[in-house]
Amino acid sequence: MSELSEIYQEIILDHNKRPRNFGELPESTCSADGHNPLCGDELTIYVIVDGDTVCDIRFEGQGCAISKASASLMTLKVKGKPLAEVKEAILEVCDMLTAQEEPADLDALGDLAALSGVRQFPMRIKCATLAWHTLKAALEGNTKTTTE
Ligand code: ZN
Repeated sequence: MSELSEIYQEIILDHNKRPRNFGELPESTCSADGHNPLCGDELTIYVIVDGDTVCDIRFEGQGCAISKASASLMTLKVKGKPLAEVKEAILEVCDMLTAQEEPADLDALGDLAALSGVRQFPMRIKCATLAWHTLKAALEGNTKTTTE
């Protein structure tokens, strides 16, 4: 189990150090700012939606390693995917992060499973869900969101 958490830690640190799809996306069709006052994480998510597809997604901002890694992993998960699938992924990941039990199928989550470790640290759960809540807000046409 400790070996598993080491792998997870490496994924988080790697995405924090080299966030994927990081930066502004000037031609975005929707965007939202997310703020987690508990930790001070601030993210902006930019999305290009074409028809029913999330064609491109980028993010920028400042935050702790978990908030950045979560946003980075999220962009990899949803880029190029149909909107319906993206919305499902948002629900799935937020459920996974707030559930009492260990996710049933960690393998199916791929690298996102690395985020499941935050369930043991209630203060950090909002760091991990911030990017996903912000993406949801952007897709719903809300430009600002704060984790409650
Ligand atoms: Zn944080």
